[in-house]
Amino acid sequence: MKTTIEKFAGDTEGVSYELTVFRFKGTSKTAPSAYIQAALHAGELPGVVAIHALMPKLRAAEAEGRILGDITIVPAANPVGRAQYVFGELEGRFHLGTRTNFNRDFPLLDRPDKAALPPPPRNATVDVHLKRLLVGLSVGHDIVLDLHCDDEGVPYLYVPAQLWPAMQDCAAAMGVEAVILWDGESGAAFEEAAIHPWLQLPAEKAPLEGRVVTTVEFRGLADVYDRYARTDAEGIYRLLATRGVIGDAKAARPRKFSGVAAPIDRVELISMPRAGAILFHVEPGRSVRKGARLATIVHTPGEPDGSIDILAPQAGYVLTRVSKRSGRAGDDIIKLIGEARSARPKAGALED
Ligand SMILES: [Zn+2]
Repeated sequence: MKTTIEKFAGDTEGVSYELTVFRFKGTSKTAPSAYIQAALHAGELPGVVAIHALMPKLRAAEAEGRILGDITIVPAANPVGRAQYVFGELEGRFHLGTRTNFNRDFPLLDRPDKAALPPPPRNATVDVHLKRLLVGLSVGHDIVLDLHCDDEGVPYLYVPAQLWPAMQDCAAAMGVEAVILWDGESGAAFEEAAIHPWLQLPAEKAPLEGRVVTTVEFRGLADVYDRYARTDAEGIYRLLATRGVIGDAKAARPRKFSGVAAPIDRVELISMPRAGAILFHVEPGRSVRKGARLATIVHTPGEPDGSIDILAPQAGYVLTRVSKRSGRAGDDIIKLIGEARSARPKAGALED
């Protein structure tokens, strides 16, 4: 295993950033290669601790000559966001200098080759340089995992629709509860940047069966625990073994995905009709019938008619909810995977 530190300059004098990259060299020329990064949204740490738990397993596999394909790992992909504390709170989702989501506006290459990366725009800011660096490190790998987390939620994946159902074995290996299949554009999220170059090639030249691209949502922001880190590291390891990046027959035994898999247009974003305090009646992972009470918003405390119930627009599965307990009118507070297409489907990414 080789460790390198990628250094890049900030936008002001005296400021620079470092990105740690671990690389394992595979022993087989035909085995698929893998790229794994965590905390592109810098405050989302379940994936970081999962990688920390995964590394000893990879080092052991390397010592035993069982690393077959090249593996590149970036355990903390966003040192720029990681440093953005505002009044004591970490803002790791949007770059403060440009108000741009760190997981949008990645360069979309026309072929899976680092040489296809266009030169940076003349006025590129540090977040743009970071995105180019991450695309350069990841492009060309057969398997790309981008480890995130939701606010409060079950473990689930976003997967490009073109890779489903071929990626069922991966979802089963990871042990996730749900899979959201997306199509078209996602605002050039990292996941889109990872699959886009392959989709530009003729299918016979770049068969999609062997490809794995996913945004992994490892539960919620506060689910940073040793037991989850170990479970999630096991899941990633099983995926790598299942797809032949690591030699481990026991970990690679075939599994069937039994969770919920749904196209993104079945996701109901449940929003607040009024501002106020949120009383949730459901937790992520629960199935609900149409009309079930999902939450009550207390908008005028103390008054007899001071609260309003939010009901499920259709039967479905509660995927996530927000961790805050207050909100504004219009705020989305629950993601529900409906049994049918949403009457108000969201195009592209579900969140800003
Ligand atoms: Zn995220």
